[in-house]
Amino acid sequence: MRRSLRVSMISAAVALSAFAPAAAQAKPSVVATLPDLWALTAAIAGASLEIKLATRFGQNPHDMEIRPSQILLVSRAAALVRNGLEEDAWIDPIVEGAGNPKLLRGSPNVVESVRGVQVLKVPTGPVDRSLGDVHPLGNPHYTLDPANIPLVTANIVAGLSRLFPDLAGTFETNRHAFLEKVAAADRRWKSILAPYRGAKVVSYHDSWPYFYRAFGFVEVGIEEDRPGIPPSPQHLSALIRRMRDEKVKVILLENWYPGEVSNFVARDTGARVLAVPQSPGAVRGTEDYISHMDYLVNAIAKALGSP
Ligand SMILES: [Zn+2]
Repeated sequence: MRRSLRVSMISAAVALSAFAPAAAQAKPSVVATLPDLWALTAAIAGASLEIKLATRFGQNPHDMEIRPSQILLVSRAAALVRNGLEEDAWIDPIVEGAGNPKLLRGSPNVVESVRGVQVLKVPTGPVDRSLGDVHPLGNPHYTLDPANIPLVTANIVAGLSRLFPDLAGTFETNRHAFLEKVAAADRRWKSILAPYRGAKVVSYHDSWPYFYRAFGFVEVGIEEDRPGIPPSPQHLSALIRRMRDEKVKVILLENWYPGEVSNFVARDTGARVLAVPQSPGAVRGTEDYISHMDYLVNAIAKALGSP
């Protein structure tokens, strides 16, 4: 039933697109699946391309329903920037429905942003859906370590330069300017968080291994048993014991999840729940990479620093 709904939505979107004004095509457009990739691609492209986001800011990327507007975006795009670790596998039926074969997997018009990144928490042994189906190839939240940004932006520049060779110089210039700003900001972030190195932290979802590595935090546990699967009572009681032993003070709750579980764990352990945006734009005014990280770093420093 869901499939037939999808197909009818797709037909409606394609029919609608026939009436779209031609002016919308003035600049080539590039679709990024997720807000972090959107922010990085926009920083590289500057005003030369139209960079579109396939999701809404602040939407949980692990749990996505297809909308006609997404099919329209993809049907018109010249390139697709994706995560590369299946966090955004929901884009595949959208690409198929949009009738834009240029954006199918493996096409030169598709940028897999993760290439070359050292991926954390790669599952060992057989992977099946009982392990959760949102991090099947390892943890996909790699842009939360600023040290990965040179590599990720290099992948995006290489992909866009292949398609728009006349703009290759502009992309590289923009990338350099952006990386300088990120490096300066990273020095600021490291110094703000320096007093809290070694702090023991718990989160609702497994969003933070790259962030913890970057800033020297210790992961005591995750409330979700397996990424994308609500926690079992046994898992939570073991976690609560561990948190009491290790005196965990802060639980990071990605702000698109409901707070019941984290509040329950907090009551039992004396830790405080800090709702934080996992990706750019989940808090208004943090749509670009640096302001998102600024917000995150300051919120975490404040929570760890207060009595
Ligand atoms: Zn995730």
